[in-house]
Order: sequence, then C-alpha cells, then structure tokens
Amino acid sequence: MANMFVDRARIFVRAGKGGDGHVSFRRELYVPNGGPDGGDGGKGGDVIFVIDKGINTLMDFKNVRKYKATDGEEGGKRRCHGANGKDIVIKVPPGTVIKDFETGKVIIDMADREEPFVLLRGGRGGKGNQHYATSTMQAPRYAQPGQAAIEKTLVLELKMLADVGLVGFPSVGKSTLLSKVSNAKPKIADYHFTTLVPNLGVVGLGEGRSFVMADIPGIIEGASEGTGLGLDFLRHIERTRILLHIVDAASVEGRDPIEDIEAINEELSKYSEELVKRPTIIVANKLDVLPAEEREAVLKKLRDKYEPDTKVMAISAATGEGVKELLNAAFELLKDAPDEILEFNSEISLEEYTSRVEELPYTVEKGDEEGIFLVEGPRIEKMLGYTNLEDDKGFKFFQDFMVKNGIIDELKALGIQEGDEVRLYGWSFEYIE
Ligand code: GDP
Ligand code: MG
Repeated sequence: MANMFVDRARIFVRAGKGGDGHVSFRRELYVPNGGPDGGDGGKGGDVIFVIDKGINTLMDFKNVRKYKATDGEEGGKRRCHGANGKDIVIKVPPGTVIKDFETGKVIIDMADREEPFVLLRGGRGGKGNQHYATSTMQAPRYAQPGQAAIEKTLVLELKMLADVGLVGFPSVGKSTLLSKVSNAKPKIADYHFTTLVPNLGVVGLGEGRSFVMADIPGIIEGASEGTGLGLDFLRHIERTRILLHIVDAASVEGRDPIEDIEAINEELSKYSEELVKRPTIIVANKLDVLPAEEREAVLKKLRDKYEPDTKVMAISAATGEGVKELLNAAFELLKDAPDEILEFNSEISLEEYTSRVEELPYTVEKGDEEGIFLVEGPRIEKMLGYTNLEDDKGFKFFQDFMVKNGIIDELKALGIQEGDEVRLYGWSFEYIE
C-alpha cells in the first residue's frame, strides 16, 4: 500500500529566531569616541498555514516533516538593520484541524478559512546598542539579543468538508455510486478497502442545484475503538451534513442488511453521538442482482424497521435504477439539514501557547583594575529596580538571579577569584565561592 491514505500527520515547525542587536561605535575622523551605532536585529520568519483547495490529503506531510522559517539577521554597524527571516507557508487541505502534539488540544480548525493563519510568530529582533546610551552610560557595550526561536510539534488531522457522506461496509457500492453521479473517479473493485483515499465529487442535479458528495472508505466493525483503518475514516464523516447509509440489499457477500446497518450505527454512535443523529437515508443497493420476487421482501423488512424515522430507498448503482430519485431525495434532505458545518473550537490561547520570555541584555566584563568585574545592562537595571538588596529575602533573590541567569558562570569564565569585587551600578560585592 505505497499510496496509503494519510489523514493524520505529525510535523515539526519552527519560527525563526530574532536577529541579535549589534554593538558598535561610530568611527569618524576627528571624532575620537563616537557614540554607539549598533543596529537592530531582523525579525525571525513566521510559521503560517493556508488552505489549498487543490489538495485533499495530508500525504505530502509524510515525506516532509520539518518546516522551518529562517532566523532574522544580526544588526550591523552604522545603525544597519539586520534582514528579516523568511516566513514558511504551509499549505493544507480544506478541513485540516491543527492540534498540539503534547496536549492533543486543538489550536485551530482551518476548515475553509480564506485568510492565512499565523501559528508561530518569529522572534523580535534585538535592539542595537544605539538605543542604550544614557546620561550615565554613554558607551553601552551591550545590545539586546533577538527573541528565541519557538518550536512546536503539531498534529494535522484532516476532517473533510462535504454535504453528503457515504457510509457502509466495504464493497456495498459506495465508490460505484459516487463515480456514477459525479465527476469523481474513485477506484472500484470487489475487494475490501479499495477506497483508501476519500473522494469528493460534485453532484449536479441541473438548474444550478448541486451538492458535494464524499465517498469515505468502508467502516469496519470495531472502528470506533481504533482497530484497523476504520477510525481514521470516521473523522471525515464528522463534517458531512447528511449521510447516505448504503447496504448490499442482495447480500452478495452473504451478510444481512439489517445486521450491517446496526453494526455501522453502533460504530458511529461509539465515535460520536452526533453522528447517529445526522439526517440519513438508508440506501439498499445492488437491486439488479436481487430476483424480482425477493425485492419486495427485502425492502419491506428494511422499511418496517427504519421508516418513518429514516427513509429507505432502493437503487442499483450499476444500472442507475433509482439513482435519480435518490439524489433528489438527498437534495431535499439537505435543504432541511443544519448547514452549519461542525467547527472545532480552539482549546488553547495562542498567546500563552507561543509566549516567550523577554530577554533583556546585560554584560559581564573585567574592569580596568585587577580583581574588579562589571555587570551591567537593562536586565540588571530592571532587577535592581525591584529588588531590595538590604533585605535578607531580597538578597537571596539577587543571589539566585545571578546563578539562574548564568552570570556567575560568566564571571567564572572570566577567571574571577575568591575575594574579587563585583560591581553593579553603584553596588559592590565581594565574590565568595
Ligand atoms: P465500496 O467498497 O462500497 O466503495 O464498493 P465498490 O463501489 O468498490 O463496489 C464493490 C463491488 O460491488 C464492485 O465490484 C462493484 O462493481 C460492485 N457493485 C457496486 N454497485 C453495484 C450494483 O448496483 N450492482 C451490482 N451488481 N454490483 C455492484
Ligand atoms: Mg470504495
């Protein structure tokens, strides 16, 4: 089954990192100490989803699983702005529901959305050191780093959109019917699971009347518990407005039509209570194989059991007998059926899902004198602003801050020794291992 139908795919997406801000100083003839002129980093590329009506499977996602936007570039000298990263645009078939892999929660139902959907925003570019000059800090040696990249693993699920869904056991004639009444060319054969790809066809009834019919691969018993191929296919029926439940009235395969209908209904209701309530026509197919004297008996049995709640109609998809009447009845049923397609609500807040920590810059460097180290920059200034260093709790917080932000590691890398002095904006501490 090389061409196995894929209606669920797991992919990895990454929005670009923001480019870092740049640190540089103006160099001009006759201007000995030029001001800071480091430019800003570019924005990282976004991860964007769009509907492409020309695609009807998630097959492509089986081959390509990683989708990355590019990073923003670093800022340059002379206030030069780094280039923005390139977005990645991912095309999906109509009806694709995008979920988070970790939690299984719905991020967005693309349904038949017209506008592109930005799922991950690229990181903001960092500010160059030109922005950090103040009256006390005329030559800032730090710039803001670009925002980190965001990476997510997503699950794409295709839940096709169609007016009429065909359900029934394999080989009852669903594909045959669709091929006879529409422009679709589904594969027809007399072995089970010939239909691995759901097919959509437009059924024209003349005078501008038409609807979209979906041939959904056969459901097998136990499908709702995920055995075999069934469950994947149940996903598609969720978004059809009415169902044509097809049975083999001639019992060509030796099965009883009523048992078949009950078995399928059982699977539908286990999967979703909504599905069994969907307006349905029971279609007894393969009339042509049924001897004339048996026709009435088979139909009577079905009608006694299901009518008047559910209409029973008889056809032969092969000869076309009864098909026109069936299509007209389907059209009438559609008129009264709810026309809101089922849309899956987002189960997460995109803002929270894609939030990232604000990264303010700081620098750690050796001072001019031996044994002196300087720690400065907006991140440090901000922390000092809300921390009371004269209070025990505040001082403990400060110590944790220095460790968590990697500042102690950086001091060690610069060779700090026990007893050396660390200066932060007028504060001075003795370094103790
Ligand atoms: P599906 O699995 O439900 O899509 O069934 P198919 O459309 O692939 O049909 C299965 C087999 O039944 C094929 O060999 C068809 O030619 C045959 N078939 C379908 N409809 C009829 C019909 O009305 N009469 C007869 N005699 N055979 C049919
Ligand atoms: Mg089929």
